[in-house]
Amino acid sequence: MRMYDIIEKKRNGEELTTAEINWFLDGYVDGSIPDYQVSALCMAIYFKGMSDREITDLTIGIENSGENVDLSDLNGLAVDKHSTGGVGDKTTLIVAPIVASLGGKVAKMSGRGLGHTGGTVDKLESIKGYNTSLSREDFINQVKNVGIAVIGQSGNLTPADKKLYALRDVTATVDSIPLIVSSIMGKKLAAGANSIVLDVKYGSGAFMKTKEDAVVLAEKMVKIGKMCNKKISALVTNMDIPLGCAVGNALEVKEAVSVLKGETKGELSEISVALATEMLSLCFGIPSETARLKVLDAIDSKSALNKFREWITAQGGNADFIDNPQLMCPPKFESAVVANKSGYISKINAEEIGKCAVMLGAGREKKDDLIDFSAGIILEKQFGEYVKKGNVLARLYSSVTDDFRNIESRMAENIEISENPPETEPLIFKTVK
Ligand code: URA
Repeated sequence: MRMYDIIEKKRNGEELTTAEINWFLDGYVDGSIPDYQVSALCMAIYFKGMSDREITDLTIGIENSGENVDLSDLNGLAVDKHSTGGVGDKTTLIVAPIVASLGGKVAKMSGRGLGHTGGTVDKLESIKGYNTSLSREDFINQVKNVGIAVIGQSGNLTPADKKLYALRDVTATVDSIPLIVSSIMGKKLAAGANSIVLDVKYGSGAFMKTKEDAVVLAEKMVKIGKMCNKKISALVTNMDIPLGCAVGNALEVKEAVSVLKGETKGELSEISVALATEMLSLCFGIPSETARLKVLDAIDSKSALNKFREWITAQGGNADFIDNPQLMCPPKFESAVVANKSGYISKINAEEIGKCAVMLGAGREKKDDLIDFSAGIILEKQFGEYVKKGNVLARLYSSVTDDFRNIESRMAENIEISENPPETEPLIFKTVK
């Protein structure tokens, strides 16, 4: 086979065979097929799409590109969640300890930031000492003993996705349904959990811009999961505005802790409770209402916060920041974005806010860029809130740049203020089962 022929076939809109898909994945992983040819294939897939059969083959090819995790010792309680990616989405840091504190076994492989969206692995690496690359044995032992382990994709787990993900990030080929389905489900299947809850986001800050596309994505992923005998469901949720106030790695970890402490309510807490409820309900086969009450109690009683501390410590992280958040990654420079008129905040463009956070150093422009963990944005005013001219709308933080002028003006352009209060969209549009 020749990679050239495979690219040309997909460019012409033809269906690739199972053998062709497996051949290109093998060649990409072993280094015999270069990045530039795989970039061209991703772009062809982006424009021409893939049939359900091709998507299933790509998913299973990604799953089997490395070693799979065997969680069969966990009595069927292994539960995982995955978000399709958004801005300010730190829900894993909240739901994982909630579910683990209630007896679920959260075995999770997470990703790094992609495009304008953040990634859980980058957020966790902002915690001093936290080890995101446990051996398979340590990963499973930690899930058994602590109830939770979250790692990055190690060399042996879905290496095909590891390479594809980094490549797509820098070649404008992230927001493609076949590539997202296969990336997420390949990882989820390899990670071995029995129950999987997906958070499929739509809106300006998500890869899927419309509800309709998000529902298609959710349905395709749920279908593949069921075919592979998983208990699986997907929440389709709104990502027009960033989730919560913080965007940027260390800032988001601190915000997640404040939700676990019961100090921060609002949409971030609402969506975290909904996801944890769904995970618990699938994992233990209990009704949603029962699961929800347990989840709320885990937050109120601080048992989820205690589980968070236990998890971070078990994985080598210094958990002192939980009691002293100001110690964590203090930024060198900061600046403020102020309102140039009075009115209601009627739009906060999540994608643009995510891009501003990347410009501050919180994400990568090129695939090998280093992250500034202290960098990011705190939105001081929320969607729908009334502000007066001169009020601080957002604070910007960075340790790699003290020239905030372009970012300040880009932020100001993307936080709209109007005379009348804006209409609001429900946060959770639909659950696909
Ligand atoms: N998250 C993933 O894991 N993969 C994608 O392709 C997009 C979001």
